[in-house]
Amino acid sequence: MTHPGNQPVADLAALIETVQRNERALKSFQDVELRLIAAHDWSAFLEGVFVYLPEVFGLASVSVWLDRRTPLLRDLLEAECARADLEAHLKTGMQGGLALSHLCADNLPWLGRVSELEPAVSETFFGAQAAAGSAIVLPLLTRTQVLGYLCLASDDPARFDATMATDLLMRFTRVAAASLDNVAHREHLRRTGVTDPLTGLSNRRYFDERLHHEIRRASSHAAPMSCLFIDIDHFKLINDTHGHALGDLALGAIGTCLKQHVRVGDTVSRYGGEEFVALLLCELPDALAVAERIRRAVEAIELLDDEGERIALSVSIGVAPYRVSAPTHGQTDAPEAAEASPEAAARSLLDEADQAMYQAKHQGRNRVSLLAARQ
Ligand code: GH3
Ligand code: MG
Ligand code: MG
Repeated sequence: MTHPGNQPVADLAALIETVQRNERALKSFQDVELRLIAAHDWSAFLEGVFVYLPEVFGLASVSVWLDRRTPLLRDLLEAECARADLEAHLKTGMQGGLALSHLCADNLPWLGRVSELEPAVSETFFGAQAAAGSAIVLPLLTRTQVLGYLCLASDDPARFDATMATDLLMRFTRVAAASLDNVAHREHLRRTGVTDPLTGLSNRRYFDERLHHEIRRASSHAAPMSCLFIDIDHFKLINDTHGHALGDLALGAIGTCLKQHVRVGDTVSRYGGEEFVALLLCELPDALAVAERIRRAVEAIELLDDEGERIALSVSIGVAPYRVSAPTHGQTDAPEAAEASPEAAARSLLDEADQAMYQAKHQGRNRVSLLAARQ
């Protein structure tokens, strides 16, 4: 029992406890903030928000709604959002956005029981599940715009209520928004540096780097690998007959087709004007089968000209295998590949695929070809 005379002592103890609690909270906020500031890519940012944040603050869930109308975010979401693990926590629907801008009018946070949220907001952050507990919804505000909203939820119905001080959380959300903006810019630079804008495929710079990397890996692990060189047939004629814009459409359609016919882990890039290359992590017979599937699929593309006439498209494909057996006795099936530097090995692999492609052209185009030495 507390004697009335001990009241000041009890008050002091309570005050010290409050200060200590605030200090702990501040430290936790700083930990998460530092993690977000240090995030150099989208994955690291998501991990900070969806894994680290709920862990540090003992939250039942963290959800985010992002505004797709922001061009940088739209690009980021289109490129990176097809991740099933994010579906429940990362939302972009416009209806939810409208309801959220009303909920956080004047860009102020909202706090209260989850059951008090209007259905569009509740649905955005918690799905169809009947929600219990309490939540805080904060705008992700940069200097110039609202990128979206962050929702932190607790199973405790009293944890977030309108009387709670929100300055630390608001500061944290500012840091999160600035980090998100930064990550979106970084990802944009990364993608535009290695992506061909017309086809959405990676470009030559990326392919060369990837090829060197895979050659090093193949040399040390004796992993199979094959290269395809793919050139559109009579493409100049398509441009001359139907115009450059339609030529661009054809390039885009063929790029999409190529992407659909290689496996995860394989690389397909636009190597030059109407030339593509693919690096397939498989043996020669498989690579020949993939090349043949690509040839047929391109032939089947339905591209129409302005009069509705179908434009015939085809490609010639050269195939080259990269073979290195385990370097136990310094013996390999293709000694030039094992002994050369990765750069020289990459060049000779691409040269061989290129020569095979020219052979396909000479043999009549719209075909897959392999140099005689490999048959
Ligand atoms: P072949 O069957 O021998 O390969 O004949 P081709 O006409 O495809 O080959 P050629 O090298 O003579 O012509 C390639 C053409 O590709 C010429 C060039 O204008 C066109 N091209 C290159 N890049 C682009 C592009 O980005 N868009 C469009 N529309 N055309 C392009
Ligand atoms: Mg060409
Ligand atoms: Mg061509």
